Amino acid sequence: MSETIEKIKCLIIGSGPAGYTAAIYAARADMKPVMYTGMQMGGQLTTTTEVDNFPGYPQGTDGNAMMEDLKVQAERFGTDVRFGLITKVDFSKEEGGIHKVIIDENKHVEAETVIISTGATAKYLGLESEDRLKGGGVSACATCDGFFYKGQDVVVVGAGDTAAEEATYLANICSKVTMLVRRDEMRASKAMQHRVAKTENIEVLFNTEVDEVLGEQVVEGVRVVNNQSGDKKEIPVTGMFVAIGHTPNTTIFNGVLDMDNSGYLITEGKSTKTNLPGVFAAGDVQDKEYRQAVTAAGTGCMAALDAERYLGALL
Ligand code: NDP
Repeated sequence: MSETIEKIKCLIIGSGPAGYTAAIYAARADMKPVMYTGMQMGGQLTTTTEVDNFPGYPQGTDGNAMMEDLKVQAERFGTDVRFGLITKVDFSKEEGGIHKVIIDENKHVEAETVIISTGATAKYLGLESEDRLKGGGVSACATCDGFFYKGQDVVVVGAGDTAAEEATYLANICSKVTMLVRRDEMRASKAMQHRVAKTENIEVLFNTEVDEVLGEQVVEGVRVVNNQSGDKKEIPVTGMFVAIGHTPNTTIFNGVLDMDNSGYLITEGKSTKTNLPGVFAAGDVQDKEYRQAVTAAGTGCMAALDAERYLGALL
C-alpha cells in the first residue's frame, strides 16, 4: 500500500516571532502555510515574562501572551499550525524543485517553499555536575524557574545582556544573587551594567569561573575558581542560572545548507535566501547579532515575501 504524501506550498519550521510573522504574511498571500511548531511552541519568548521593547505595547506585554496572540493572528488568515518536530530534510537543489521533509520520524511532506525559523537554544558550561543537576537547581532560564528560588541565594553565570537581565530579575525574588564573570569586565551594555551595579543584592565576582556544582540531588552550592590567582572557594546557593549565550538549532541542516562557523544559517545579502532555491531562513537561526523579537519578526516577514516572489517567478 503506497503512502499518500501531503503536498504543501509553504512549510514553516518553528514557531517563534519569525515563524508566526512569516505565517501571517504567507497566509495573507494565499500560500496556505503549514507550520510545524517544534517542541517549544512559541519559541524562546515563552521563557520570558515581560517583553518591554516590542513596538506597539506601551505598557509592555507578557512573552507567552504575545506568542499566543501571534498564533491566533496567523490562524485567523488560515495558517495550519501543527505540533511536531522536523526530523529529516531532503531539500532539492533545483529551481522549482520539491523539498522533502520528514516529521516526527514518520510523516512525509513535500513543500514548494520552506521557511526555517528554528531559533537558537541556551548553552551550558559542559560540567558533569551541571548536567546532573539540571532541573535540580541548574537552569538556563531565570524567568521560567526563578520563582522556585524565592528568598534564597543563587548564582548567575555569564556577563552579557542576558546574564545581567537574569541577575536583576532574580534580585527581585532572591535574597542574594552572585554573578560569576570570567573576565575582568562585563560584555553587557553599559545600561545593563549600570542596572546591575545599582541593585544592592547583586554581587559581581570578576575573573571567576565555575569549577563544580555541588550537591547530589539538588544544588547546594558552587565551587568557583579565580582564574588569575587559582584560589577556589565555595558559595552556598540553591540555584545556578547559566546565561552564556545560545546555539542555533540547525543540526538537521548540517551538510544541507550553508552555515557559518557557529552553525548559524547563511542568507544571501539582505534577503532570507539560503544557498538552496525555495529555502529561506528567518529569525535567530540566521542572526547571531541582533537576536531580538522585533528583528526576528522582521526577517519572518521578509522570508514570506521572498518565498512569494520565488513562487511567482516560477510561473
Ligand atoms: P552573549 O554572547 O552576548 O554573552 C555571553 C556571555 O557569557 C559573555 O559574557 C561570555 O563571556 C559568557 N560566557 C560564555 N561562555 C562562558 C563560559 N564557558 N563560562 C563563563 N562565561 C561564559 O550572550 P547573551 O545571551 O547575553 O546575549 C546575546 C545577544 O542578545 C547579545 O547581542 C545581547 O546584546 C542581546 N540581548 C539583548 C537584550 C536586551 O537588549 N534587552 C537582552 C538579552 C540579550 P565573555 O564576555 O568573556 O566572552
